Formats: sequence, structure tokens, C-alpha cells
Amino acid sequence: MRQAGTNLPKVGQYNRAVVLDHIQFADGISRVEIAERTGLTPQTVSGIVRRLIGEGIVREDGRGTSSGGKPRMRLRVNPGAGRAVGVAFDPAELSCVVVDLLGNPLGRQRRPTPPHGSPDQIASSVAELVDEVLGDAGVRREEVLGLGFVTPGPIDLTQGLLVTPPQLPDWDRVPLQRLVAEATGLPVTLDNDATAAAIGERWAGAGRGVANFAYFFLGTGVGGGLVLGHQVHRGGSMNAAEFGHTTVDPDGPQCYCGNFGCLETLVSPAAMVAEARRRLASGSESSLSARGLKHTAILRAAAAGDELAGGIVDRAAEQVATVVVNVVNIVDVDLVVLGGHGIQYVEDRFRGAVERALQTRPLARRIRTARVELSPLARDAAAIGGAALVLYATYSPRVSELLSL
Ligand SMILES: [Zn+2]
Repeated sequence: MRQAGTNLPKVGQYNRAVVLDHIQFADGISRVEIAERTGLTPQTVSGIVRRLIGEGIVREDGRGTSSGGKPRMRLRVNPGAGRAVGVAFDPAELSCVVVDLLGNPLGRQRRPTPPHGSPDQIASSVAELVDEVLGDAGVRREEVLGLGFVTPGPIDLTQGLLVTPPQLPDWDRVPLQRLVAEATGLPVTLDNDATAAAIGERWAGAGRGVANFAYFFLGTGVGGGLVLGHQVHRGGSMNAAEFGHTTVDPDGPQCYCGNFGCLETLVSPAAMVAEARRRLASGSESSLSARGLKHTAILRAAAAGDELAGGIVDRAAEQVATVVVNVVNIVDVDLVVLGGHGIQYVEDRFRGAVERALQTRPLARRIRTARVELSPLARDAAAIGGAALVLYATYSPRVSELLSL
């Protein structure tokens, strides 16, 4: 069952969020069905729906079947009621999408992140990219509800700060939310990129309608997102699901986080390049050459049948699979989604390794084997999730804030 509503006073915004969530995820739903599924009174549902229709966010769409008596109008989100922009920031790449209210991309673009850029330079680069994407998609600024800016963690969501991000050693507690808002002139919502990618998958990708899933994000680093009971699980400091910092090899290298043998220290692009160099130095045959070796070259070579590159990819996939099994044992998800540019060209090898592990290793596998899917949103998942955050922030303010009223 999806999130239930409450008939207590002072939680009108919360109920509105719950109702909108049901309309967004059902492909046509009646007021009666919303009341049944949320536990809200029919009067409360009617009042909320009337306001959502009045604001143009929701529309009545054809007549549904009825169990006798009056036919029921189906409610759907009006995709054209607004636009949202999502920007995913990674030390290597900035990507930007503009979407409608159903998460359909209307335009997208990516560009390399300015190397060694200061926070101000990054913010102005973001503003240029957003202008380009809006211009190409023919979206007017007045239509844009806001911008979701997503970045590798850790972040301090309460203050809009990026806290000592990996691979940006000079950055410490950078007020990126404010800088991007000033540079773009749009209201900005900040979040962790992997959490956002999970939200994107839940909204418009593989996780749509799935109650429990884990999202593994393999990019410059390794991140994750968890949806449990239809809710994004954020944890006490809003930094849950850091799958990349679980120990795979206790005797492994020390990670910048302080832990040893973290998944990320073993399978990150930098780790795979270092491993390829070691194997090449030991004289192994390969089409790769150590000079100027890049991660994407390893992935491409593996896909083309190079044995050395294939061995490195398969080892990384096994290590990811080990962490997937741990996560499935702990939180018992129905689905594991794999995404991120770190597995491009070799997605099927990663999926295969994780599938084999899930068929043979989790304790509860005979009751139900968790499924594995590749992210259909691929490299845009985090940016689309960022855009989804804008809609949640606009139409469904944070439940925790509402409940603390
Ligand atoms: Zn670590």
C-alpha cells in the first residue's frame, strides 16, 4: 500500500502531497479510489482535488467504470501545467534536463565540468547550460517552477551546503544552493545525486510503482538510493544508502572516508584504471596501453572482447554484486536498479553478475528472488530526479517539515 493520509487538522499540505502522489502514479484514478487507498474521507479528497484542478495541476480525463450509480471521472496530472529543470553535478560532467509534470524530458544536454573550477565558476557554467537547454526546448522561463541541483554527497540539506565532496579537495561547506540560485535566478532545491536518481527512477523509470527497490549509482564514485514502502529512505542525517562506502575487502586500501576496502575504492573509474595499469605492467596481453589510459577505454575494450579489460570489469561487477547481496539481505527489496555512466558499454556484464549473485546468495532467495534492471533513464536519472524534486518541493513540501508544524 502506498502512503496513507491522515484526517487530523493542520496537515492539509501533507494530505495534498499524498493525494497528488496517488494521482501521479496511477494511470487515471477516481476520487473514490483515492479515498479508499489513502484512508482520507471522501470530503477531504474532494476538497483537495478541487483545488488541484483549480490550479491546473490535475485534470479530469474521461469517464471510468463504475460499480453502479454515478460514473467516476478519472484524474490525471496535467503534464503541461509546469516545467522543472534538473541539473546533475559531477566532478567530470554537468548534465541538465527540462521535463514536464510527468517527468517526460523536453530537452537535455551535458558538458564537461570546468576542471578545477571554483564554486562561482561552476554556478555560472550551470546558468549557461540551463539557458541553452531551455532555449533549445523552447521553454519559457516563466513556465519553470524551479531547479533541482543534485551532487555527490555528503551534503548538509538543512543549510544547502556541499560538505567536502570527493575529488574536489579545495571545496568545504560550499553554499552551492545559494550560488546556483543567484546565477540562474531560479528557486533551487539541493539533494544527493544518487538519492535523486532513485527518485527519478521511481517517478519515470524502472522503479515506477515498485514498493521496495535499491538503486546503485556507478559514476565517478558509487552511490545509492533506497525506496522502502514507496518512500525514499533518507536516514537520520539524510545521507542513507552510501553503498559505495560499505567494506568489501577489510584488507583493502583506505578510502578517503576513513574506512578500509570500501566498494568505491575497488570499482571506481580511478580504481579500475589503476588495476589495468598494474596488470599491463605485469606484462598481460591487451589492446589497451597504459599511457593516458581512461576508464571509458577499459569499458569499451571489455565490450569489444579484450580479455584483460573484461577481467577488470568482471571483478568490479562481482564486487558490486557482493554489496547488492548485503543490501538485499538487510532491507529485502523487490528490485535492484543499476545505473550511472560507470557501467556504460558493459551494462549486461554488471547485470549478469548481480543476477547470478541474487539467484544464489541472499537468504530469502527461495521465497522471492529480487529482480535486476538497468536504469532506462541511464545517464539522465540523477538530473530527472533533480527535476522531480522541484515538483515535490513545489507541490508536495517535505513531509517532515509539515509534520513538525
Ligand atoms: Zn569509503
